[in-house]
Amino acid sequence: IKNGSELKSQEKIPKKKIAVMTSGGDSQGMCAAVRAVVRAGIFYECDVFACFEGYSGLVKGGNLLRKLGWEDVRGWTSLGGTLIGTARCMEFKERSGRLSAAYNMVTNGIDALIVCGGDGSLTGADLFRSEWPSLLEELYEQQKLAKFQIEKYKTLKIVGLVGSIDNDMACTDATIGAYSSLERICEMVDYIDATAESHSRAFVVEVMGRHCGWLGLMAGIATGADAIFIPERPPEVGKWKDDLKTVCKRHREKGRRKTVVIVSEGAIDRELNAITSDAVKDVLVEMGLDTRTTILGHVQRGGTAVAFDRMLATLQGVDAVKAVLEMTPDTPSPMIGILESKIVRQPLVRAVELTKSVATAIANKDFDKAISLRDSTFLESYQNFLSVSSNDDGSQTLPEDKRLNIAVIHVGAPSSGLNAATRAACLYCLSRGHTFYAIENGFSGLVRHGSIKKLNWSDVENWHSLGGSEIGTNRTLPSQDLGTVAFYLQQHDIQGLMIIGGFEAFTALRELEQAREKYPIFNMPLCVLPATVSNNVPGTQYSLGSDTCLNQLVKYCDEVKQSASASRRRVFVVEVQGGNSGYVASYTGLVTGALTVYTPEKKTSLRSIQEDIELLRDNFAHDEGANRSGKLFIRNEKASTIYTTQLIADIIKEHGSGKFESRTGIPGHVQQGKVPSSMDRINATRFAIKCCEFIENLNFDVNASNRNPDPEVRLRFKYSNGQKKNLLKKESDSASVIGIDGSQFKFQSIEDLWLNEADFVLRKGKTIHWEHMNEINDMLSGRLMLRKQN
Ligand code: ATP
Repeated sequence: IKNGSELKSQEKIPKKKIAVMTSGGDSQGMCAAVRAVVRAGIFYECDVFACFEGYSGLVKGGNLLRKLGWEDVRGWTSLGGTLIGTARCMEFKERSGRLSAAYNMVTNGIDALIVCGGDGSLTGADLFRSEWPSLLEELYEQQKLAKFQIEKYKTLKIVGLVGSIDNDMACTDATIGAYSSLERICEMVDYIDATAESHSRAFVVEVMGRHCGWLGLMAGIATGADAIFIPERPPEVGKWKDDLKTVCKRHREKGRRKTVVIVSEGAIDRELNAITSDAVKDVLVEMGLDTRTTILGHVQRGGTAVAFDRMLATLQGVDAVKAVLEMTPDTPSPMIGILESKIVRQPLVRAVELTKSVATAIANKDFDKAISLRDSTFLESYQNFLSVSSNDDGSQTLPEDKRLNIAVIHVGAPSSGLNAATRAACLYCLSRGHTFYAIENGFSGLVRHGSIKKLNWSDVENWHSLGGSEIGTNRTLPSQDLGTVAFYLQQHDIQGLMIIGGFEAFTALRELEQAREKYPIFNMPLCVLPATVSNNVPGTQYSLGSDTCLNQLVKYCDEVKQSASASRRRVFVVEVQGGNSGYVASYTGLVTGALTVYTPEKKTSLRSIQEDIELLRDNFAHDEGANRSGKLFIRNEKASTIYTTQLIADIIKEHGSGKFESRTGIPGHVQQGKVPSSMDRINATRFAIKCCEFIENLNFDVNASNRNPDPEVRLRFKYSNGQKKNLLKKESDSASVIGIDGSQFKFQSIEDLWLNEADFVLRKGKTIHWEHMNEINDMLSGRLMLRKQN
C-alpha cells in the first residue's frame, strides 16, 4: 500500500476501463470489495463497469455490463451479500460463452477484469486470459471485431480477489467472507450451547465446506467442540465411531453437561466414504445421549460482514485496481491475498493450481499432502484443536521430570479473549502433564492475598466464549512489591509465567526481567500475550480483544449510521477507545466508510475540521434517493485535548447552517464486547499454545513432543539444563512478547522492544502500522478527490 504522496503521483496514470464482478457463491464483504474497486478506479481516473450476475454479465452484455459511479456504491461497506449479483454461469464454461464475453468487453473498451469469487471463478478467469488472443482472433475472423480493436486490446489483465466463505484458496490466510461465516457459526453454536447445557444434550452441527474443512476446524476451536470431522483429516474407517464415543464419554465424565460435534459438509473417512451428520448423530444416540442435529445451511452466508472481512475486502479491492494499473503484458495475473496481517499479491495460476491439488490429494488419499497445501496455519490449527479437545487422553503427557508448573496472570483492563487464552493454555498444559496455576486479581491479588490456585479441566472447559476475566484482572504492576511476587512464585515453584494483557502487561514483563538479578525466580521463561482492545502493545500488529472491539464498533456505527440516514441531515461523531493509539479509530473509519477519522497520530486543527465540513457539504449535496446514507466521523478518545467530540459536533452544527446537524455517539465500555469474536477465540488458542511451547522449550530441550516448535525459538533460546535450573544463556530473550509483525509471527525480547520500539509517554509502539488505512479511507471517502478538485 503506497503512502499519500505516491498515490498522488499515480493520479496521472491514463484512463482505463475496468470491469468488476462477483461470482460463485456469495460471501459477506463482496459489496465492500466492489465499492473499493469502483471508488479506487474512479480515483485513478478509470471507468469501472460492473458485470451483473457474475460471468453472465460478460456473456450477455447490454444492461448487465454497465458503468458504476461514485455515488452508486455509497454505503456498500455495511451490506451483506453482493448487490451486483452473482451466479453460476454455465455458458462461460463453454468457449462460445467466453467468445461473447470477449466481444462484449472489447466493444465496451474493457480489457481489465477484477473477479471476486472462489477457485472456480478464478479458474474461469485464468482460462479466459489464456484464451484471450485466440478469442479476439476468432472474433476478427467472424468479422465481429476490426483489426484496430484486436491490436488495442490484445492483452487481457485479470486480477483475482478471493471471495468465498470456505477459505479454501491456497496462498492466502483468509478469503473475503470466511471470518464472517465463522462468526455466524459461533453465534449459532453459542445459542445451541445454552439449550444443550440445560437438557444435557448432544448436538451435531453441520457446517459448510464440501471440499475444505477450514470452517469446521475453526468452529471446532472457537466453540470448544468435543470433536470435528473435516475432509483434510479423515479418521480410520469404522474406528472413528469408537473414538468419538471415547472422547465424548471422557468429557462427560469430567463434568461437561453438553456434547458438541462439528461436521463439515464434505467430511469423509480414510476410504473416502462420507461421514454425514446423521451418521455422527447415530453414534451419539448409541451412547445414550439425547442428540439433535442442526444443519446451519445458508445462515452461514447471511448477515453483514465482520470488521476483518470489510477491511480485507476494502484493502484488497484498492490493491486490485493498483495491480491492474501497474501490470505489464508480461506480469503474471495476480491474486490478492493476505499473510498474517499483510496484503500480498500472489500468482493467480499457482494459487488456483495449488488449491486444485488439495482436491486431488484427497481423492488420492494423500491426506498429509492435502493438509500441507492448505494455508500456513491450517495444520497448526488442527494440532491446536487436538490440544484443547482430545489430547486430554494422556497421549501427550510428558515424562515426570519434564512436567512443569506454569502460571498465568491477567494484567490491565479486561478485553475479550482473556478467558479463551487462559482456557487454551490450561488445557494444553494439562494434556502435557504440567500443573497450571492462575494468579487471581492481577499482581495486587498475589501481593495482598497470595491468590494463586490450580486450574483443572472442568474449571476452564467452557471459557472459550466468555468475555471479561474469570480469574480477575487489574492494572497493578509487580513493582508494587517485587519481593512478595517472587516469594509466591517461588512457593509454588513456578517455572514459566504467561502475562496476558495490554501495555501494563508489557510494563510488568519489563519490571520482572529487570529484577532478575535480585530475585532469581524471575529467570524463568516469561512471556506477554497481548490482549487489549487498543492494540497498543509494542511488537505486535494484533492483540486479543481488538477484533471483538472492532466488531462491536462496526455494529454500533451501522446502527447510528442508519439513524443518521433516516433523519437525512445528520452526521454522527463517534468517539472510540484506543488511548493514544489511533489503531481502533483508523480501522473503524475504514470499515464503516466514515468521512473522517481523528487520531492522536495526526494533529486536529481548525483547518482540518474545515476540510471535513467541506467534505460533509459535498456529501450531502449528492445524498439523494437510494444512494442516501448516514454520515459518520470517527474520533479517537485522545485525538486532541481541545477539539473534543462534543466541540467537533458543535462546530459541525454551527457550520451546517440549518442544512445539516450533528450528534455525538460514545459507545464506551460496550467496545470490550460480551463474548469474544471467533477470530479472537482462535487466535487466543493459537497464541496461548505458542506461549506454552515457548515456556516448555526454554525449560528443557525441545523435541519432547511431536509438535513442531518454531525453529527460531529453538535456536535462540537454548536452555542450559541440569543443575543450573532456571539459568538462561541469553537472559533477555527468555522474557518476550508474542506477536504478529507484518506477515510474520514471532517472539521478540522485551529488552529489544523496550529499548527500540516502546513509546512510554504515549503508551504504544513507535511503529504506526495502520497509517495505510487512513490513506485508503481518504481515497474512498472522497477526501483526496476533493483536494484534487480544489
Ligand atoms: P464458491 O467457492 O462459492 O463455490 P466458485 O467461484 O468456486 O465459488 P463455481 O461455481 O465453481 O464457484 O464457479 C463460478 C463460476 O465461475 C461458474 O459458474 C462459471 O461461470 C465460472 N467457472 C468456474 N469454473 C470454470 C472453468 N473451468 N472454466 C470457465 N469458467 C468457469
